[in-house]
Amino acid sequence: MEIVVIGAGVVGVTTAWQLACDGHQVSVLERREGPGLETSFANGGQISTSHALPWSSPAVPGQMMRWLGRADAPLKIRWHADREQMAWSLRFLRECLPTRHLRNAGHSLRLALLSRQELGRIREEAGIQNDHREKGILCVFTDEKAFAHGREAAAFMADRDVRQEILLGEEVLRIEPSLQYAEGIVGGVYSPDDQSGDAYLFTSQLAADAQKRGVTFYYDVDVRGLKQEGARLAGVSTSKGLLKADAVVLCAGSYSARLVKPLGIDLPVYPVKGYSVTLPVTNPEAAPEVSLTDEVRKIVISRLGNRLRAAGTAEITGHDTEMNDTRARAVLDGLLALFPKAGDPNKAEFWTGLRPMTPDGPPVIGATPIENLFMNTGHGTLGWTMATGSAKLLSEVIGGEAPSIDLEGLSLARY
Ligand SMILES: Cc1cc2nc3c(=O)[nH]c(=O)nc-3n(C[C@H](O)[C@H](O)[C@H](O)COP(=O)(O)OP(=O)(O)OC[C@H]3O[C@@H](n4cnc5c(N)ncnc54)[C@H](O)[C@@H]3O)c2cc1C
Repeated sequence: MEIVVIGAGVVGVTTAWQLACDGHQVSVLERREGPGLETSFANGGQISTSHALPWSSPAVPGQMMRWLGRADAPLKIRWHADREQMAWSLRFLRECLPTRHLRNAGHSLRLALLSRQELGRIREEAGIQNDHREKGILCVFTDEKAFAHGREAAAFMADRDVRQEILLGEEVLRIEPSLQYAEGIVGGVYSPDDQSGDAYLFTSQLAADAQKRGVTFYYDVDVRGLKQEGARLAGVSTSKGLLKADAVVLCAGSYSARLVKPLGIDLPVYPVKGYSVTLPVTNPEAAPEVSLTDEVRKIVISRLGNRLRAAGTAEITGHDTEMNDTRARAVLDGLLALFPKAGDPNKAEFWTGLRPMTPDGPPVIGATPIENLFMNTGHGTLGWTMATGSAKLLSEVIGGEAPSIDLEGLSLARY
């Protein structure tokens, strides 16, 4: 089949690679000058299978109230006269109900476990070198209430055979000795099977490998619309003309909903802005070996070769990617609070990206009401963790094979 993939982020590139391996003729349309230059560029680097929990959780409404008015709050909403933002936010709040959260967490976890398996296979087959680490993820807590929540989440995972280790106080130093300079840690949860790595290096190297397998990448091409004829798509309208295909896969991250709205498809994927900061490691002894999550400051930290990256904060403010200095600085301060002597803050590189979030958490994978239009989008906070399993599932749907895991909770039909 001739297949067009829209978007060359980690999700689009992995999808294109998988479809080419299955024998399809694949073209990728990307408006930027290369692969992985938007949200997949400088994310937190965590392959956090053991923390594949949706953000919409029972704890969030209370936290939002406490954070009101704080310029550096981990979650901030800037209201626009935007019906999509209001509708998405209300759906998000509904998904915070305990029963819904648990159900959504189950769907996310199944996909994350499949993805971990697929990531190993793809890295090997494509010979990827992306500062990958298999040293686990350590969540640290600086307040008892958050630690209690962390232990509940760990119990949920442990019940599903995901290895979790609870650490009290200074026991965290056994896993990560460089935390010795941090203050106020009351405990931690260690997930030894988690991983980390640079999503951009993965995406760009996999794109190069996909090209060798026959995928054609068209960069600097803006997709303007999807041309429908009857129950099918006739092609994709772009800044360089109409491209025809047997099938189209939408992997346009936070811009996906806009492309299908004219077709009458309500895709609740809305951007949630985040920030990251990357420092060169100047003192390896004081820098972490494992990847970490600070559950109170809501930041993640990954060691990427001789760099240290911290990422976090959520701002619901439409498609605006402007850098807010207070929020960017809050991420750097969070990193320095745990690892004050590891890197050079004067050489900090700041970045923002838009997480393509669904209100319930899991992405949208598979068929749509239009016969030859498929989706693989809405990966939110966990697109790097889930890209590889998502690509596998999408290729199975297109190939008419039984999916590796149940698509319930992952398909568009759930909305
Ligand atoms: C601060 C931050 C930290 C994060 N940390 C982690 C983490 O530690 N672990 C994890 O698993 N996930 C993390 N994520 C989430 C992860 O980065 C995303 O889920 C993932 O990158 C989404 O990939 P994508 O391919 O769907 O989107 P993108 O990377 O945004 O790719 C979509 C592509 O589509 C293109 N496109 C869009 N519209 C058009 C159009 N009309 N025409 C042509 N091209 C178009 C865009 O240019 C873009 O290249 C983080 C995100 C942020 C913001």
